[in-house]
Amino acid sequence: MLIPTIGLEIHVELKTKTKMFCRCLNDPNETHPNVNVCSICLGHPGTLPVINKEAVLKIIKIGLALGGEVNQITYFDRKSYFYPDLPKGYQISQYEKPLIKGGLLKGIRIRRIHLEEDTGRLLHELPSNEFLTLKGKYSYVDFNRAGVPLMELVTEPDIKNAEEAVEFAKELQLILRYLEVSDADMEKGQMRLEANVSLNMGTKVELKNINSFKALHDAIEYEIKRQKEVLARKEKVIQETRGWDDKKGITRSQRSKESAHDYRYFPEPDLPPLDLRFLDLEQIKREIPELPEEKRKRFVQEFGLEKSLIEILVEDRKRANFFEEAASELKNLNQKTDYVLLVNYFTSDLRGLMLEKKLSFDDLKITPENFAHLIFLIEKGELSSRLAKDLIKKMVETGEDPESIIKNEGLKLISEEKELEKIVEEIVLENPQSVNDYKKGKINALQFLVGKGMQKTKGQADPEKLKEIILKKINQS
Ligand code: ZN
Ligand code: MN
Repeated sequence: MLIPTIGLEIHVELKTKTKMFCRCLNDPNETHPNVNVCSICLGHPGTLPVINKEAVLKIIKIGLALGGEVNQITYFDRKSYFYPDLPKGYQISQYEKPLIKGGLLKGIRIRRIHLEEDTGRLLHELPSNEFLTLKGKYSYVDFNRAGVPLMELVTEPDIKNAEEAVEFAKELQLILRYLEVSDADMEKGQMRLEANVSLNMGTKVELKNINSFKALHDAIEYEIKRQKEVLARKEKVIQETRGWDDKKGITRSQRSKESAHDYRYFPEPDLPPLDLRFLDLEQIKREIPELPEEKRKRFVQEFGLEKSLIEILVEDRKRANFFEEAASELKNLNQKTDYVLLVNYFTSDLRGLMLEKKLSFDDLKITPENFAHLIFLIEKGELSSRLAKDLIKKMVETGEDPESIIKNEGLKLISEEKELEKIVEEIVLENPQSVNDYKKGKINALQFLVGKGMQKTKGQADPEKLKEIILKKINQS
């Protein structure tokens, strides 16, 4: 029985005002190439780097949130390698003394978390078929990203399958977003995953070029299968780096793996060691918000909702906060409330509108209080679901409270018997066929007639009462 052993190496660009060792802006949205650059991040000889305190504090916050230990004395190392987007010929990284050692997430031990700088970005022209022209033969380099603070997290090889690897990476992404240290958007390259895979603790193969959680999953599965086949043929697994080909769904050899000594790590002579003994770690701990796992547990206890609904709430901290504020307001209005109605309108109607109008919680006009009030009106039976939908739309547009919209637009639910009877008389006269159908046993015809009534009243009829009166009317005729 061959047991897979998997470790992850995850790089994440930090959200900071400036770059890691200079005062250039760290702006991931800058589209014009080579504007956020200076002699330091362009690697000119003779320039001196200065450590970005904000980046150091963010790594420490991440480390503490993941249960790691802060190395009190830590320093940077030079990692030498050549690449066209690395103009210095080395990357300032950490080797012997990472900022954070240890930690645990989803049962997977974290080995270390360190801080380093990102490289620039290469843009390759698409190859052209035009023979003997230069078109499609150039590559360009953009240094806006060079020197951006980069976190590197390395796990112990505790992961046993592709699902666990994805679960770990997703939870890490969520925590980084909760901590507001990175947007960790994989499509924008802000979070990059690498996995190393071996069987029975044998030769390790490193997987690169993984651009999504699905790619991580598929690459690991493919690699486990490939290595099993290699061993079944009585061949040896070669220690190498393999790139994931998303289109073909295979990994292919890129290069034989270099070892640490190839990089000739040595302490960065241009930077002093960091003495963190006097850092107030308790203060940093206090700044850590409630993390997703605690939130899930609390939401289960407080709201008694099913797991999938809670996951929708927790996967976005602002969404969770909005929901929670609305929930506590609703509790004030109605002690006996169950939160299912709230969560349903929140995750379907409101979220749908937000997606449609591309709204974030920051530019949302509707307040949690008003949203709770709306749900309360539905609970009291003063609004049909159809009316509620219209109201939410108006509330999102104007930010007004539901009561005043109801008053101004005359959106009251019609539940008075006399008024409804008049409407039902019309419906029955206009739809004799459906009335007959129902009498012949076609139950659907009743729903059709109720629908007609809702249409006639623009959604303002109380559907339950309407149904009752239609039945009464049909049975009389
Ligand atoms: Zn710079
Ligand atoms: Mn690295």
